[in-house]
This record gives sequence, C-alpha cells and structure tokens, in this order.
Amino acid sequence: MEEIVRRRQTEFTAERDWERFHKPRSLLLALVGEVGELAELFQWKEEVLPGLPGWRPQERARVADELADVLIYLTELAAVCHVDLPRAVLTKMAQNACKYPAEKVRGSSKKYNEYTEEQNAQDPKLETQQEVPGE
Ligand SMILES: [Mg+2]
Repeated sequence: MEEIVRRRQTEFTAERDWERFHKPRSLLLALVGEVGELAELFQWKEEVLPGLPGWRPQERARVADELADVLIYLTELAAVCHVDLPRAVLTKMAQNACKYPAEKVRGSSKKYNEYTEEQNAQDPKLETQQEVPGE
C-alpha cells in the first residue's frame, strides 16, 4: 500500500508543480501539523476505548481523514529523504522484537533499559561484564 500512496502523492505533487514546496523540512512540519489535527480530536475527552465507542460518525470520519493526512505526509517525507519506508519499518519492528522479547515483557509496559537494569541486578556477573567496555 505504501508504494501506491507514494506514487499517487508524487503524481499529485508533480501535477501541481509543488515539488519546490515539498522539501523535507516543510513536509515534516506539515506532518506535525496533521498529527496535531488528529490529537485535537482526542483532546479533552476521557479515556478513549478501542473502536471509539460513543463517537459520532462525523467524528470517526475526521479521525480517518487526519490519519490519512498523517500517512500521506509521512510517506512523502520518507520519499524525499530517500528512505525506503517499508524496509525501515520492518527493520525497526525486528529491532523492537529483540529489545522486547515477549517472554520477558509480556503484560508489562516497562522500557527496554529497565529490563536490562533488572536483569543486571539479578545477575551481578552480567553487570560486571557490561561495566568493562571494550573487552
Ligand atoms: Mg488534516
């Protein structure tokens, strides 16, 4: 899907001669603006449950619109930065799987370095090995 979005957005930009405006910094700021528009929809509400129960159809449509804006700018930003976004996402997901092994983190929201510290405290030999850099 990313490829379709990227191609269609490239065409959209080219047909309007907007490449001169769609530079990395401007696209990043546009992306942040769209994230802000998405955040505004959730602002001042109580905790929102998955599926957005109780939200009006117009509110749900706005969420879809803003999510689409975010994805469009993200995709275009990656393209102008010459980042292969699907590859970068898969690489990052693999790194996350290593950082957060399911058997160690299941049911917890701790950050990966808290697990490392916990592990070191349980096994002082491990901590000693990590304190000597370069060996
Ligand atoms: Mg928008």
